[in-house]
Amino acid sequence: MKWFWLSGYDAKVDLFLLHEYNKGDESLVLLPPFAAISRCTGCGKFNEQQILDVGFDLNRVFRLPQDILTWPNDSHFTIVTERFRDACLRNSIRGVEFIPCGRRRRGGLLYIMWAVHRSQCDEPVERWDRGYTLKPGLPPYNTCRACGRPVHVAGFPHRFGLKLPDELTISIPSIPTELRHGLDFRFFCSNTVRRIFKAAKLRGCCFTDLETRCPSSPPPANDLQWLRAALEKLPNANPRVENLIDELNQ
Ligand SMILES: [Zn+2]
Repeated sequence: MKWFWLSGYDAKVDLFLLHEYNKGDESLVLLPPFAAISRCTGCGKFNEQQILDVGFDLNRVFRLPQDILTWPNDSHFTIVTERFRDACLRNSIRGVEFIPCGRRRRGGLLYIMWAVHRSQCDEPVERWDRGYTLKPGLPPYNTCRACGRPVHVAGFPHRFGLKLPDELTISIPSIPTELRHGLDFRFFCSNTVRRIFKAAKLRGCCFTDLETRCPSSPPPANDLQWLRAALEKLPNANPRVENLIDELNQ
């Protein structure tokens, strides 16, 4: 069974959940219901649970050309359409909850897709972009001194360390992934769910092979090993590369 990271393709839309765009002076104004929510004095993040407790104005209308949007402009929630939610409910897809957050111009509600199921992930996490190895549970790596939350942790776990759920469950790894605005859910799903979404003709779903980004072989234990592995992938015609590998192997 193949597994995929599930996200939405980039869509150029103005979708501000917490703010209103003031066309007069082009500023952003926080919507009154959210003004009382505590924000960390260090990193400026909102408390997501409080945001959900306050709830959203379901009369606000947004333009969304596709059925899934990974990041609205002022948070890292994943927004989906009623079509997306219905496809999940109709097919008994589990692991996520849908919280109404607005109205779609084409009709129907928009929902925040909230992760309920978390897949245990005990193995190191690799920053896929630069090859740095991080640990799960994350040491004080860019940790906010005021609230203790990781300020910015963009990690993808290795496939071999991830305990996969059943094929109808959309899940996220149990590691805390956070970006500038707050919680960032890394949803992943099975090929079965992918097929269901494709049959439902949901628009804008991006499926990235779990194996491509997260190889199933164990990650190198440290940066030196990572460097050696990277060098060994290069063509050996260059004597400097061969010398470097020899030096590292000593
Ligand atoms: Zn903070």
